[in-house]
Amino acid sequence: MASRPPIPDSSRASAQKEIARIAEMRSVHAAFSYLHNQEMEFRRWQRELTEIPAPPFGEAARSEWLLQRFTALGLENVQRDDLGNVLGFLHNGPAPLIGISAHLDTVFPQGTALQTREEGNRLHGPGISDNAAGVIALLAVANALKKTQLKPATNILFIGNVGEEGEGNLRGMRHLFAASAWRDALQSLLVIDGAGTDTYVNQALGSRRFEITFRGPGGHSWSDFGVPNPIILLARALARFSEVQAPESPRTTFNVGVISGGTSVNSIPESATARVDLRSASMEELQKLEDRLRECVAEAWREAPLSHRSGELKVTLAIESIGDRPAAELPKDARILQIVRAVDKHLRIESFPRLASTDANVPLSLGIESTTIGAGGDGGGAHTLREWFDCSNRDLGLKRILLVLLALTGVHE
Ligand SMILES: [Zn+2]
Repeated sequence: MASRPPIPDSSRASAQKEIARIAEMRSVHAAFSYLHNQEMEFRRWQRELTEIPAPPFGEAARSEWLLQRFTALGLENVQRDDLGNVLGFLHNGPAPLIGISAHLDTVFPQGTALQTREEGNRLHGPGISDNAAGVIALLAVANALKKTQLKPATNILFIGNVGEEGEGNLRGMRHLFAASAWRDALQSLLVIDGAGTDTYVNQALGSRRFEITFRGPGGHSWSDFGVPNPIILLARALARFSEVQAPESPRTTFNVGVISGGTSVNSIPESATARVDLRSASMEELQKLEDRLRECVAEAWREAPLSHRSGELKVTLAIESIGDRPAAELPKDARILQIVRAVDKHLRIESFPRLASTDANVPLSLGIESTTIGAGGDGGGAHTLREWFDCSNRDLGLKRILLVLLALTGVHE
């Protein structure tokens, strides 16, 4: 069993002292200068990356891009795993492993126009902030460590992972913690996602997603009138479910995000489908919401005439799980939280804890310390074609990431 790195005990003051010590190191100053001076290069990388398509389950071209960057900057043992996660190590001998990750995938389907443009300090383009900014931060910090010859006390695993968004269902991160050779060595994971410096995730938002489908025999709107209509059954189920009173605390939400079915206005449809997203900070509330959804769907099905619930003309109902992310929470005295707070105090950043659904859900649900922070700068319009990233003061976010990482690994001059 590897020993933990030589880092702050549980007292707050010692974390603060440790951050001040690291920030004063000459090589850390050199890294800060690099992060400040390379801004124009970071912008070029960010635009280049944003213009490479990475729809869910289609990240290969981006994996290749990052693989080449990791190799060029001299990370060791650079590789791509079976799913497309790109890994690179900063080695310092046999020690445990601290992970830092950014997801490569976007929500934008294949064929989306991904041109970027630049107006002053502002970059525009779908995915420019979520998560091109995160991937660039990962690269920037890896470069800073290599260029300034900083030698962290613990090995660092740099990860560009697939499958964070939507139906990717965290599959890249799940794979790393379930089936990779490093699964047991990973002591903690720092996730970089989106823009900003003002938050850190201390609770993993749980979510469950379902695809609900009603199917029936279908028919002609006039001559087959009376045959149960899957669109109407589905609409009834959703209308009923929409009346659920979701608690404000723990915050719990639901959404019907996609609906489809039918072929023409004068045909009774053969099927109707909806995709539903349920979220909660509490696994218990999430379960209640799921139970209610299942009840509403079953009730709507039972309203179809008995003659259509069996036999040849029967109406069927399917509920398929298309996503399941565990809810979890960092302990109040978690070392990673103390480090982030101490770094923020040191950099005079005013930050607050956040409840979110990110790659950190996976380690958090396994009891491994993890948090998600932003890549610096500012951003907006995430998951829309109007997405933007403002590069002003990006280096503050990069310094923050570097300091958190070095405090996690331990480092000496
Ligand atoms: Zn993201």
